[in-house]
Amino acid sequence: METWQEILHQSLTTVDELIARFGLENLDREAVQQAIDRFNLRITPAALALIRHPGDPFWNQYVPTPAENVVEDGIVDSLGEDADSPVPNLTHRYPDRVLFLVSPVCASYCRFCTRRRKVGDPEKIPLNQFDSAFAYLREHTEVRDVILSGGDPLMLSDRRIEFFLKTLREIPHIEILRIHTRIPSHLPQRITPELCEIIKKYHPVYINVHFNHPDELTPEATKALNLLADTGAPLGCQTVLLKGTNDDPAIIKELVHKLLKARVRPYYLYQADVVAGGEHFRTAIAKGLEIIRALRGWTSGLGVPHYVIDAPGGGGKIPLLPEYVQSITDDEIVLRNYAGDVYRYPLPRDGAHPARNGTGCGENGHVDAENLVFLDV
Ligand SMILES: *Cc1c(COP(=O)(O)O)cnc(C)c1O
Repeated sequence: METWQEILHQSLTTVDELIARFGLENLDREAVQQAIDRFNLRITPAALALIRHPGDPFWNQYVPTPAENVVEDGIVDSLGEDADSPVPNLTHRYPDRVLFLVSPVCASYCRFCTRRRKVGDPEKIPLNQFDSAFAYLREHTEVRDVILSGGDPLMLSDRRIEFFLKTLREIPHIEILRIHTRIPSHLPQRITPELCEIIKKYHPVYINVHFNHPDELTPEATKALNLLADTGAPLGCQTVLLKGTNDDPAIIKELVHKLLKARVRPYYLYQADVVAGGEHFRTAIAKGLEIIRALRGWTSGLGVPHYVIDAPGGGGKIPLLPEYVQSITDDEIVLRNYAGDVYRYPLPRDGAHPARNGTGCGENGHVDAENLVFLDV
């Protein structure tokens, strides 16, 4: 059987290989080369197998297009990650958790990558400068959650992954470790029993995977997810809302159903970032809200991700919700349910004292002492 390293080596990495596979009529050699010069090309066999024809949802994710060379509002470091980086490879933006870039490379490069300014370049995510990051984490006792990202952390060797998990686990105030990866989709063969044994030793480990389209849940990817779920790590999924790939409620609904069947909980649905080179993936905000509205109530609440904008300039993730509140007065809140029907909820009269109001028992929200005793029995 081939190793995952051997399979990775079969990836498509040049414009000539793209042309040989898809034909010159579908590719603008010069523009594509220009895009590759800015941000690496690599498409693993698993990702390549998803592409059926030019312009389909998978072609859009992996094949460079001339649009990448056009910058309108795009920002190189749109999330301001480098400004929040106290030492190389760490971004510390939130009070109690940090993002730790441990790998410069990915198995396949997503053309919408928000970190395309450094991903693929080992000089920008240096593999030999972790001492200052570990020192920072040991010193900052408020950090209780560390996210291993990159690039893709599962591109590292087992030995190196174990080194990171072990070193972080030895820091007493770090409570949870997270691995953020697209490997189950791009290189499912990487999820080996040996890797799973390592993960099991360092719990609590949470794993967030990345799937954007239901067709990405191939039998091989699903098997990889099952192996990861069997480690005991809770699995979440981060999905990026992408024009021409998944900007459709029916597609996202099918995606979340397939994820739940694979024991993965949808976690975030990201509005595409205003990143230079990836602007053409952006959709209207109304589309994201329409998708959430099409999920909430209509399907399992377990399958409804948080729709967020990662605010340009470093504001962090900000949730967006469809409007379910029609009005609020001193007496009541008027709500629309998922199907659009209107319901009224009377507000507590004296500022929500639970013994008097708001239990839903008794007339007019009033619960008398006798009722409470009865309920206690
Ligand atoms: C997304 C992100 C996190 C994690 O955010 P959660 O909402 O806890 O998943 C942490 N740090 C940075 C810089 C991030 O971008």
